Amino acid sequence: MYYSYFDVFSIGIGPSSSHTVGPMRAALAFITSLKEKKCLQNITRIQVTLYGSLALTGIGHGTPNAVIYGLMGLKADTIDLSQNYIAKIEETHKLLLAGVKEIDFRKNTDIVLEKQTFLPRHSNGLKFQVFNSDGEILYEDVYYSIGGGTIIRDGEEQPKIVQKNVPYPFNTGAELLKICRENRMSIADVVFRNEEALHSFKAVKSYTERLLHVMNNCIEKGIVTEGKLPGELNLSRRAPTIYRRLEEKFHQNDEDPLMIVDWINLWAFAVAEENACGGQIVTAPTMGSAGVIPAVLRYFSRFASKKSPFDIAIGQGLFLLTASAVCSLYRTNASISGAEVGCQGEIGVAASMAAAGLTAAMGGSTAQIENAAEIAMEHHLGLTCDPVCGLVQVPCIERNAISAVKAVNAARLAIRGNGNHLVTLDSVIKTMLETGQNLSSGYKETSLAGLAKNAFTC
Ligand code: SF4
Repeated sequence: MYYSYFDVFSIGIGPSSSHTVGPMRAALAFITSLKEKKCLQNITRIQVTLYGSLALTGIGHGTPNAVIYGLMGLKADTIDLSQNYIAKIEETHKLLLAGVKEIDFRKNTDIVLEKQTFLPRHSNGLKFQVFNSDGEILYEDVYYSIGGGTIIRDGEEQPKIVQKNVPYPFNTGAELLKICRENRMSIADVVFRNEEALHSFKAVKSYTERLLHVMNNCIEKGIVTEGKLPGELNLSRRAPTIYRRLEEKFHQNDEDPLMIVDWINLWAFAVAEENACGGQIVTAPTMGSAGVIPAVLRYFSRFASKKSPFDIAIGQGLFLLTASAVCSLYRTNASISGAEVGCQGEIGVAASMAAAGLTAAMGGSTAQIENAAEIAMEHHLGLTCDPVCGLVQVPCIERNAISAVKAVNAARLAIRGNGNHLVTLDSVIKTMLETGQNLSSGYKETSLAGLAKNAFTC
């Protein structure tokens, strides 16, 4: 199954692709279906029930607000957050369904949290029910947010976004390597040809520029924005302090050889903190893990490349296209949802994508790229998802920085080798899935175990 570059990297609002972007898209899909049925005018009430992980950590992840945005017909990539929609609804108790039909709405009672109930298909389930003035249910539907902002409607086999015809489809790493070998193409070439068939050269180019713009914007905003992160942990943003210290060291001509690590940490912190504050983010592959790829990309353009701006731009394109192919393999054969396989599916996959992308941008062979992706995941196996108080802050923000550095190391290890290695990317993906299935639910975005249980009482 081939997952498009446009699906792997999408632009949305933080802090969580599965708990913010996915529920927002589900609400929008439900309300759009009602619009198509022309029944909006008969609706007087709506109730949304969040199940399992969405109920347990949804408040900290901003799920209720995201659902409201979707019900209003707003989209994650174009929403204007300065409009303060939620504050207005909380004040007036009125919600404009799909932007056209006003109904009474109280966030605390019309969004129900079913913390003990996990729907069988996925732990991130949401049910939408609409009622008429007699209190009768007019329509109801269940959706699942399965990771990376992707949703499935109950009763549908697969998400609609993957049903596309491309010239070079692949399901496994072995198939991808075979396509590259037989057609003398790089991994980035394969993705580019597939995307050209789905979109156009111009569309791929301008989308890449847009992704880079949002990622860079996030870094630039994150390194200078002071203040507290939202939520009861009462944490301050750390990126601006790190940035000031690094600038001082730079002006003092400090020759600490490990300062590069500090810069990578800074860029990852900047994006992860923007995400925690609900900023505009690129899912890479999720929002909780969105700091890894921008930090490694910035490392490539700042430190790993002594080339011209043109060569850097080409390298960034190779980086993102290659990373997209790696993500497609994880989505096809495992999962990128912390609620399904723990943090190895989010930060682990981000590091695997970043390592592969960096190796490609640095001129590595196809075998070295596969090796880099495999090394990065191999050393994230078993990583649990235990966000403290359900907030995408601890351990998430530091974890982005640690794993960005790990991704650079994986790429460097692969580049220093000849591409021969014992553990294949396919086998490490299979292992990641099995490990995730064996993790108890407390370690899968429920905040019931791990650091969430021991570090702080919420
Ligand atoms: S621990 Fe990892 S998977 Fe869980 S919310 Fe944080 S970044 Fe996402």
